[in-house]
Amino acid sequence: MSGESMGFYELAEKVLALERSGKKVVRLNVGDTNIPTPECAVEAAVARLRRSKSGYGPSAGLPELRQKIAEREGCDAKNVVIGPGSKHLLYGIMSVLCGRGDKVAFPSPYWPAYSLACGQLGLKANAMDANLDAKWDFNPADMEKAKVLLICNPLNPTSTVYPEKLIRGAIGAAADKGAHVVLDEAYRGLAFNEIPEYGGDNVIRVRSFSKEFSMEGWRLGYAIAPEDVAKKLIAFNQITATCVAPFVQEAGIACLENESEILAESRKAWRLRTDAAQKALAESGFRFARPDAGIYVFATHPAIRDSGAFAMSLLEKEGIAVAPGTEFGGYKTFIRICVNQPEGTLRDAIGQIGRFLMR
Ligand code: PMP
Repeated sequence: MSGESMGFYELAEKVLALERSGKKVVRLNVGDTNIPTPECAVEAAVARLRRSKSGYGPSAGLPELRQKIAEREGCDAKNVVIGPGSKHLLYGIMSVLCGRGDKVAFPSPYWPAYSLACGQLGLKANAMDANLDAKWDFNPADMEKAKVLLICNPLNPTSTVYPEKLIRGAIGAAADKGAHVVLDEAYRGLAFNEIPEYGGDNVIRVRSFSKEFSMEGWRLGYAIAPEDVAKKLIAFNQITATCVAPFVQEAGIACLENESEILAESRKAWRLRTDAAQKALAESGFRFARPDAGIYVFATHPAIRDSGAFAMSLLEKEGIAVAPGTEFGGYKTFIRICVNQPEGTLRDAIGQIGRFLMR
């Protein structure tokens, strides 16, 4: 197999460049839902713009949206901080909780932005071991002396929902060490079964409108944090983004008002897509843990030796983009597939990947 190894973000840029040059690419690499933003959100945003209410807003977020989120989460509005995407908030949380040289632990495999943010902030990233055969469970003791334990639940890239006992144990273990737990719940609403509510004095949760409400490019997320951390995060917003565009927040309010219908509909789509992808992957000789949520499958194949080179070669020769497993903590024989296409397209593309691997 030819092809140069390639990083996650580099590959995403290459896909866009190929598309601009007129090449058709089946994009299974980036976590775009490929579902339109709900109409109610678009209308609410446009209505706000038409009212010419486009000045700066408060750095904590619009009071109306904070209140709606507080009701959704069963907390006080003062614990809610709105940000331009949950990525921005995760970065902010790490920057306010840690100082240079501090350790941040997170279970493997992990979303590449965690280690990149640690690098940017001068923090030590401590990736905790896990494996497919144990369904990606991790051992909280492996956090060692980390200041922050960052847990993605459901997990990007495997779509695993960790057992409740494991998360509660991790929160307790971190509390004993005086560490915070950050729960990244960007995919929470896409879980096929309800995820328990987690909380505590040392717990910060982060959620996003990107995947739950197909608002990736709008940039809207929020954190639920103890008041002292929330205040620091608001200050972080003041220094950086100032505020999230108020018309975007207005769209968020509309989504929350129609949450149950929107999420029921999208979970249905993710179930169909995930089932189709799992069947096709198994038929092509891949191994993976059954996803507990949309929107990814993280799968290994005996013929993949260097997933970076494989992803590059698959893109160049077959016009199919997948994310290399190396980017999620060095998983050289794994690829991550975002199942963001209709079932038929997924079946065809995965079948094509299988045949490509056998050549
Ligand atoms: N957390 C995880 C695990 C993600 O995969 C993503 C996006 N891919 C985010 C957070 C960030 O989402 P956003 O900034 O769009 O809210």
